[in-house]
Amino acid sequence: MTRAHRPSRWSQSPQRMRDPELADEFIVIAPSKKKSKKPRQLTLAGNCPYCFGTMQYVWNRTTVVGAADAAIFGQGNTELTITIHCTCPLDHSGRPHGVTGCGQGWTTVVEV
Ligand SMILES: [Zn+2]
Ligand SMILES: [Zn+2]
Repeated sequence: MTRAHRPSRWSQSPQRMRDPELADEFIVIAPSKKKSKKPRQLTLAGNCPYCFGTMQYVWNRTTVVGAADAAIFGQGNTELTITIHCTCPLDHSGRPHGVTGCGQGWTTVVEV
């Protein structure tokens, strides 16, 4: 279900998610498995649970430490906790130049 974008004022201060279900509906766009079983990046796509903007977020595996780093991707049995930052390209007043999104971020768990 697509919702109308909410052009909230850009802010990085914590706010309540407007629709937590959207955070659970993010999908992992498969990394290029041909190249490596341990891709360095995952791309997640969905709608921001704060502003409802359609967005993609590229997560780099260099941002994790510990056990998850040793996981083999692509088997669907490893859970990674990832912090997503909104990259919605639509307007949010007060947003610094050169920045995308509404300023909000959240964590989600994905299977890889
Ligand atoms: Zn957003
Ligand atoms: Zn937005």
